[in-house]
Amino acid sequence: MSAIFPTYARFDVKLKEATGMMITDTSDKNYLDFTSGIGVCNLGHRHPDVQKHIEAQLNKYWHVSNLYHNPIQERVAKALTEKSSGDLVFFSNSGAEANEAAIKLARKVTGKETIITFNQSFHGRTFATMAATGQEKVRDGFGPMLKTFAYGTYNDSESVKQLIDSNTAAIMFEVVQGEGGVLPANQPFIDEIVELAKQHDLLIIIDEIQTGIGRTGKAFGYEHYGLDPDIITVAKGLGNGMPVGAMIAKEKYKDSFGPGSHGSTFGGNPLAMSAAEAVIKNVFNESFLKEVEKKGNYLINKLKQELEHIEMVKDIRGKGLMVGIECSEEVTSCVKGLIDKGLLTLSAGPHVLRLLPPLIVTYDEIDKVVELIKNQLNE
Ligand SMILES: *Cc1c(COP(=O)(O)O)cnc(C)c1O
Repeated sequence: MSAIFPTYARFDVKLKEATGMMITDTSDKNYLDFTSGIGVCNLGHRHPDVQKHIEAQLNKYWHVSNLYHNPIQERVAKALTEKSSGDLVFFSNSGAEANEAAIKLARKVTGKETIITFNQSFHGRTFATMAATGQEKVRDGFGPMLKTFAYGTYNDSESVKQLIDSNTAAIMFEVVQGEGGVLPANQPFIDEIVELAKQHDLLIIIDEIQTGIGRTGKAFGYEHYGLDPDIITVAKGLGNGMPVGAMIAKEKYKDSFGPGSHGSTFGGNPLAMSAAEAVIKNVFNESFLKEVEKKGNYLINKLKQELEHIEMVKDIRGKGLMVGIECSEEVTSCVKGLIDKGLLTLSAGPHVLRLLPPLIVTYDEIDKVVELIKNQLNE
């Protein structure tokens, strides 16, 4: 019997090693990775530059404490703020913790309680972020939720308008709902809720935990929509596999997060920071991001070309290298069939096959994968 809580419905793959786009299991079978560890290893497994940075840091110090100044944190924070709408960073170890920081900051800044999120959103599994998440299956069985979240309908600004009252602090959303089914926001919706936020003095919090760090072909997904968010959260892709998260916010909120107001023992861990520094150096690069956008368009067009005539395929959508194939049937058996064929993919909800390849994927690999998916769906 396994000594691990069965919280994950694991597939029958036992890992041995991973390099670049490829994962090898204990029976030496190879898998092409179109998951990036759920949008984490955006530069591929053990990217040489990231590995070099971590190895160098291993020989300096691993952990000292946030009681002392940490120059690597300063450098990573500077790079994140130079590329985003924010000016100040709080480092955490995970996405949920970055969102916790955002929720706490928004409440402290405004002195108000309610944060509007959306049905089908995903913001994490901690007590607050579980309540922020607009999915019943995430909250099921855990008793009464925090009452301070209200849920709008994604891509429907009228639903947001109905929820706003004098106690509303912020609107928090993903620009492409990831776990909820790879659903991109549309521009009029974004424009309308930005206008509502202006009228009612609400903060805009963008959860970029899956969409950020190059995934959609921009450093941050909100750039597609011309947004100027008050608070941004990132995590997954930031450490390329080292656990790290960050909340990035406007300088005017500085006093709300003063000494002793918030903290984390491990947040901004030096090894994670060394990885993040290498990730940023490689990803926040215009030609690299352009190429991600191009490859994303190529993947979506190729999927449309090859799969559109298949009966069970209902929609193919995404942004950059964050792609969903919506099917009329449940996709779990398809994910399993693809594992047998040597390809790792994800689902997003019961009906969407989700592709999150490392951003270093080649056109040849895309061609190969579209062929594998076509064969699988035709079976
Ligand atoms: C994965 C994810 C989270 C949670 O991140 P963890 O590191 O698992 O806590 C939050 N929001 C979004 C959009 C995510 O994709």
